[in-house]
Amino acid sequence: MQLRRLLHFPVPVKFKFLSSFGSQIIQNFTRRIQTKIKDLLQQMEEGLKTADPHDCSAYTGWTGIALLYLQLSRVTGDQAYLLRSLDYVKRTLRNLNGRRVTFLCGDAGPLAVGAVIYHKLKSDCESQECITKLLQLHRTVVCQESELPDELLYGRAGYLYALLYLNTEIGPGTVCESAVKEVVNAIIESGKTLSREERKAERCPLLYQWHRKQYVGAAHGMAGIYYMLMQPAAKVDQETLTEMVKPSIDYVRHKKFRSGNYPSSLSNETDRLVHWCHGAPGVIHMLMQAYKVFKEEKYLKEAVECSDVIWQRGLLRKGYGICHGAAGNGYSFLSLYHLTQDRKHLYRACKFAEWCLDYGAHGCRIPDRPYSLFEGMAGTIHFLSDVLTPETSRFPAFELGSAQRD
Ligand SMILES: [Zn+2]
Repeated sequence: MQLRRLLHFPVPVKFKFLSSFGSQIIQNFTRRIQTKIKDLLQQMEEGLKTADPHDCSAYTGWTGIALLYLQLSRVTGDQAYLLRSLDYVKRTLRNLNGRRVTFLCGDAGPLAVGAVIYHKLKSDCESQECITKLLQLHRTVVCQESELPDELLYGRAGYLYALLYLNTEIGPGTVCESAVKEVVNAIIESGKTLSREERKAERCPLLYQWHRKQYVGAAHGMAGIYYMLMQPAAKVDQETLTEMVKPSIDYVRHKKFRSGNYPSSLSNETDRLVHWCHGAPGVIHMLMQAYKVFKEEKYLKEAVECSDVIWQRGLLRKGYGICHGAAGNGYSFLSLYHLTQDRKHLYRACKFAEWCLDYGAHGCRIPDRPYSLFEGMAGTIHFLSDVLTPETSRFPAFELGSAQRD
């Protein structure tokens, strides 16, 4: 397929709510983003020619690129992007390595994304084949004796995301409830065990660690795990949510720095990182979800405090990516806008998008995988396309689709 064809980017403009700002400004801004998306897509495609052919992950590899094109097909309705997405995911499905089980860094990513793309193309047989292979990983995930961690990047929560992703994108029951429940139970049992070992059963009934460190953030830590457990699709029972998850969240909340930011781990007292992986931009998603589930104002209030820190310190020298860059931090505003409908947060997202429009002009460090979804350019494009369609935006490989929003 010709790249020129793919670069046609007819985004439906949904900035109605900004009408009072003057339509000329909105049109100019929209046009600048659309032009930048085309420009970055072209750079990305060029750069990918020298990317690692064996990296199939969503985080730094080809599944991430497939997810970007899936996103572009979603926001534009253009089938060409879906076919492009298929090309990339097919490549990953031939290269599964069986080393890891998560959506972001393991085989669950290519298999879940493959299942969704084939489903959209009405290739149900191929879709089912992906689901079957995904479920073959289930046994190692639920085994308590395995060394598998629980966090999102390499652990059980990252496999749980893949199951919930299928039930959201294809439909409820795609993965049966009992399979989801077993993974949820394994995560809960593991959290209880560590909490008992560390004598924190009273204060933090579900405690997690990765490489012997009790991380707080979304990627390796408790914020990401609690966030997954609170997803409606995870169907965690009310008692567990109230008795186990909620006090654990409150325990983590008390580790907040005076600035409103969060430490990278429970033992770290340096208020330095403002990343999705470590810091307020990841924890904010846990707080927003806690507000939806428990309906207590304190969670929303602290989510807004997170967003203030991100607004002040969230444009990073590390660049424009999703995991630890401007795009990932910008998503916190889009998600908060979703939750509150307060235009201030949308304005902030637009300002972060504006920063991304000057991609490369701020002397930022060039990431190791400069075109990837979570470290590089693909993530920036994903964010920019979501700024154009804020009503349906979602943090890739983390937030679930709109059916799961409320
Ligand atoms: Zn990161």
